[in-house]
Amino acid sequence: MDQWLAQGLHGEMDYLERNRDKRYDPAVLVPGAQTVVVCLLSFEHSGRDYHRRVKSLLYTLEAKLKESFGEDIVSSTHQHIFCDSAPMLERRWCVEASLGFIGKNHQLIHPTLGSMVHPGEIVLNQVVETNETPTAYQTICADCRLCLDACPTGALRNTVWDARQCIAYETHHCLVCQNICPYNT
Ligand code: SF4
Ligand code: SF4
Repeated sequence: MDQWLAQGLHGEMDYLERNRDKRYDPAVLVPGAQTVVVCLLSFEHSGRDYHRRVKSLLYTLEAKLKESFGEDIVSSTHQHIFCDSAPMLERRWCVEASLGFIGKNHQLIHPTLGSMVHPGEIVLNQVVETNETPTAYQTICADCRLCLDACPTGALRNTVWDARQCIAYETHHCLVCQNICPYNT
């Protein structure tokens, strides 16, 4: 990410240059953080106000976690539930949690839900053991390059996404590279 920022490919998203310490280390964002739990909600279940829907589900999860592990499982002084609202490398945590891989369209792609998903996180103050061994997704795009060829502006250049050329970044009205992806059909 540092390299991408240094090349200026983030355009006018200046906020990405700030709070990098928090972005790279959740314990700076939420003192006492030990575990990041990530969840995905598909577009069709999240509706327009996806922040509210995702956070509502995470608050329900938080209540259940407190019941099982005690109130101290989360910070009582710092915000610890997030959905697209904090300096948090959401996609990184999703990949680490085996919720998908980063495709050539630079979207997080879940193998069955595709990329039309919203991530949400709850940061815990305890280490939580998982039941399953994480799946190591690399990229499952293989030889496909449908999104690269379909992008109308050339914003996708193999390993690089240039926000300055991306219509979605400018107007939020381009889903070409997601609609064409076989994981979304
Ligand atoms: S959102 Fe549109 S312009 Fe941006 S990378 Fe995807 S296809 Fe290209
Ligand atoms: S369209 Fe093809 S290359 Fe692009 S993200 Fe989807 S699978 Fe990968």
